[in-house]
Amino acid sequence: MSDQHENCFVVEGKLALPYQYFAGAIGSRFLNALRDEQKILGQRCPTCGKVLIPPRGTCEKCFADLSDAWVELGQTGEVTGFTVVHHQEPHYPLPPPFVVALIKLDGADVAFAHLVAGVAPEQVKVGMKVKAVFAEKRIGSLLDIAHFAPV
Ligand SMILES: [Zn+2]
Repeated sequence: MSDQHENCFVVEGKLALPYQYFAGAIGSRFLNALRDEQKILGQRCPTCGKVLIPPRGTCEKCFADLSDAWVELGQTGEVTGFTVVHHQEPHYPLPPPFVVALIKLDGADVAFAHLVAGVAPEQVKVGMKVKAVFAEKRIGSLLDIAHFAPV
């Protein structure tokens, strides 16, 4: 008597797939400002006043339209949380170990995720002040900010 599960195999694998998507009008404006002007744009909600990044169509708190609510954010901010990545994958932006942090830019009310480099991972701390370091070759990607480094 055989158990049906003994004859079934689940093969696990991983794929790194190339893909593309349209960033939309709002995402495109954000990425163009990063690429062409080295500016980090956020949006100030006209209803609740919250300053959000990355940009979006509506406020996450009160659902107000944010399509014309652009503000330029500071290029410095504070680490509000982080993790050290030790695992290696071919599509990761840096060799491990590297730091992925939540960074609250000056002028923003929310943090967004980005890389912290230029410092040993064990020296990264919550509350650390960091500054955007732009990539020399910018292509219209969140990685046009190469990483954030300690101020
Ligand atoms: Zn709002």
